[in-house]
Amino acid sequence: ARLVAGLDTARSADLFDAACKLIPGGVNSTARATWSGWSPYPLFVESGQGSRLRDVDGNEYIDYLLGLGPMIFGHRPARVTQAVVDFIQSRGTVFALPTADEARLAQKIIDAVPSVEQVRLCNTGTEAVLYATRLARAFTKRNKIIRFEGMYHGFSDGVYWSKHPSIDKAGPDDRPIPVPQGPGMPKGVEENLIILPWNDAQVLADVIAREGDSIAAVLTEPVMCNTGCILPKPGYLEAMRELTQKHGIVLIFDEVITGFRLGLAGAQGRLGIRPDLSVFAKGIGGGFPVAAMGGRADIMALVANGTVSMAGTYSANGIAISAANAALDELATPGLYAKLDAVSDELRLGLAKVLRDAGLPAYVVGIGPLMQVWFAKEEIHNYRDAERHADQEIFRRWWQGMLSKGVLFHPGAYENLFVSTAHTHADVAATLDAARHVAADLART
Ligand code: PMP
Repeated sequence: ARLVAGLDTARSADLFDAACKLIPGGVNSTARATWSGWSPYPLFVESGQGSRLRDVDGNEYIDYLLGLGPMIFGHRPARVTQAVVDFIQSRGTVFALPTADEARLAQKIIDAVPSVEQVRLCNTGTEAVLYATRLARAFTKRNKIIRFEGMYHGFSDGVYWSKHPSIDKAGPDDRPIPVPQGPGMPKGVEENLIILPWNDAQVLADVIAREGDSIAAVLTEPVMCNTGCILPKPGYLEAMRELTQKHGIVLIFDEVITGFRLGLAGAQGRLGIRPDLSVFAKGIGGGFPVAAMGGRADIMALVANGTVSMAGTYSANGIAISAANAALDELATPGLYAKLDAVSDELRLGLAKVLRDAGLPAYVVGIGPLMQVWFAKEEIHNYRDAERHADQEIFRRWWQGMLSKGVLFHPGAYENLFVSTAHTHADVAATLDAARHVAADLART
């Protein structure tokens, strides 16, 4: 095929064929693969600028994929890009010794997020989660981690379980059995995992009452962003906080997507919950690879005294710290989040209205610049709800229709739409125009 969604994508097709001979699957991350929805092949990118992305065939899109979240300022953010260029040209990249810039960055993160008393820097969310879970186990001297079906916390052996399992093979609703993301996971890891349905405080309370003494941590996204977008039920995170506190369990918020996106203090600031440890990545670096893990000083003390090792040749490298320092300065611009929210709300409410007016069984779930459309009649509060009720086929047609009109989302119903500070009211208006046509088509067929 030389067409995707009716667009001429011949060069992408050629580049993909050539890449597949050299790179398994033709891509360097699963979410770009054909089996993640980019079929018959992913679009190959020429460049991005602000809210726009251009593919190698010259098609231009309003971009809500945004690199899967990091491009909070849109593509090529001038301030961040300049800071990185200046740093690497005038100072260097990797020294294996600290710089003053690291403490300046740590101070900004600590000032922004009240639950973070100390912080360590690294490069990816995967790494940061690995550190957080190891630290929680060391601190509590317990082994088990509770994690929730349908979430994603990176691809390391310890947590790459029960992301999107086939639910008929994954045990009962209230106590799913751990399902590895694929073969190659070491045997025995699952003994240290408890998989639970999200958004069910009673199930959590029951498990903690029975097994709390062996549970090191509850690891959760504060807003579920890896099975579409699912908001916590009122009181759920509060119950989680109370239960973990009572049983000496470390509460880890994985804010890789929500951090510095839902506000300077992330989802925890917006929702008013104080976790023990937090993980940040995408939002922190304005598109450059940087991540952070931080929280309670008494827990971080185990890192300070070397009990728990967090190492990394590239941790706090020049690109990461200069990018993050500039990104956090930019994010601190007064009114920035209010404006980002206003444009995002316009999109969320606008899409909801378009889908409703077309008479489609669909709704939009989101918070600030993070949202997804669900094609479903029923409410979706956890992974199994999504598996049972969400219509993946119509989502795919929705994605294709929007792409054909120059609006780029991820083709997967379990991904998100991201909005950046570069997106304008005009971008949203153009998106809603496209959506009206696509929704009318979907309603007809
Ligand atoms: N946690 C969450 C919630 C994520 O969404 C992701 C990435 N999508 C990760 C962790 C892993 O981050 P990274 O890709 O930077 O390793």
